[in-house]
Amino acid sequence: MMKTNRRQFAAILALSVSMACATTGPSVPVPPNIADGLNLEPHSADQRALSELLIQLIQADTSNPPGNEGAAVAVLAAFFKAHDIPTKTISAPGLEDRPILIAHLKAARRFKKPMVLLGHTDVVPADAKAWKNGIKPFGGRQQDGYIWGRGALDMKGMLAVEAMSLVLIKRHFMDSKSHKLERDLFFVATPDEEDQGLGAQYVADNMEKLFGDRPEMIINEGGIGLRNLIIPGQDLWAVSVAERGNVWVEVTVKGDTGHGSQAWGGFASQRLIEGLTRLRESPFPIRLNPATLEMLRRAAPAAGLPKSFFMSRAMFVKGALSSQPATNASVRNTCIETALQAGGPRPNVIPPKATAMLDCRVLPDEDPQTMVEALRVRLAIEGVELKVRSMRPGSQSVWTSPLFGAFERHLPADGKQVVVPVVSPGSTDSAWFRGKDVPYVYGILPFMIDVQELKTIHGLNERIAESELHAGLGRMVRIIADVAGTLRPKFKD
Ligand SMILES: [Zn+2]
Repeated sequence: MMKTNRRQFAAILALSVSMACATTGPSVPVPPNIADGLNLEPHSADQRALSELLIQLIQADTSNPPGNEGAAVAVLAAFFKAHDIPTKTISAPGLEDRPILIAHLKAARRFKKPMVLLGHTDVVPADAKAWKNGIKPFGGRQQDGYIWGRGALDMKGMLAVEAMSLVLIKRHFMDSKSHKLERDLFFVATPDEEDQGLGAQYVADNMEKLFGDRPEMIINEGGIGLRNLIIPGQDLWAVSVAERGNVWVEVTVKGDTGHGSQAWGGFASQRLIEGLTRLRESPFPIRLNPATLEMLRRAAPAAGLPKSFFMSRAMFVKGALSSQPATNASVRNTCIETALQAGGPRPNVIPPKATAMLDCRVLPDEDPQTMVEALRVRLAIEGVELKVRSMRPGSQSVWTSPLFGAFERHLPADGKQVVVPVVSPGSTDSAWFRGKDVPYVYGILPFMIDVQELKTIHGLNERIAESELHAGLGRMVRIIADVAGTLRPKFKD
């Protein structure tokens, strides 16, 4: 046995103390546990109704463009009517034929500010010929334990869960003698998310009018449960609490024109290509957002020692984070050329002008204008013109909220699954509401999926396991119960 002298012992002690410290993050408030006092498990008839609703929503082809979201709104309106839940449909300016549907469960007394379950009804188009044999993107087929179709994950599966949640919450809270709602609960289905998000923008601009008050919390898309995301064998519930902003920049370089046979350097197209190469070779620096640090800290234990020791402290993680496109995109600003233009029909004429459209994404706590100036430095092209075509800053919510506490209580199936806050690489409708000071806006689809299923979002053969759809409903209802429900006071006769 090795002898340990006093100095070694002190070092080991210091190390153990610092390891213990690193395993505690900011504390998350825990809401009262209302759900566990009730039997909220959906019945098999509820599960069948949920599957049927999703199938009908998939069959309502809402490919954007053009959207035609009225088809899905008609399905939702009929569903809520059948369950005696009041709805209204409204239109945003410029989207007159593309309705927004709002369903409402009224609190017995409004002790707290409203909660909103948000979702978009449009989907991206699907090329039917490229899908698996016999599976139609707008067929809504049940096969091999899945419901198949465009929107199954993004995000008609979630819309169906949110709609069905209202039915269950109504049953357990509004028609109950023992429990009641203490905040209004709204379901909001918006058009146009896959394009400009004008539907949700209108709702965010008119919250007080539409909901009677500014909501305190919103659940939307943006995150999901993922098997084997960072550490093999670990299931993570990645709750999106922050999103990068978009900055679309047109880069123009001008120069001499001339005959293509006179080949020397310094023409507009060459200088643009050289600048874009410099940009690729000197990426923006990695910056770890507080949410990313918390994600590392929470995910670390599954990595085992000594890896977990370093990971929980965000030490030596930059290489691993930047090696994956998804994680790389949540730790730094990025710009990618999505359109290039120079020259005309003649191959022998040197073009006097070359342009590139850059899709830049900026971290939630960074100033987009500062990013544009840093872009100029990285391109280092003399006389370059940068025109900002669109600028939308990133957005974030703190995760230390009772709603996040309810996620921690009800999303994991066991102690091995962890709930982590993440920064999303792209933006969703959540950004509109964070921009209007709704305190807690989180993106989480309550389904655990694998990487293969994740790839079907905006891709081929989109599908959702029916077992996860049903489990997701149970999770969602329990979460809502804890943050929106309460016990009715008991009075003696
Ligand atoms: Zn979506």
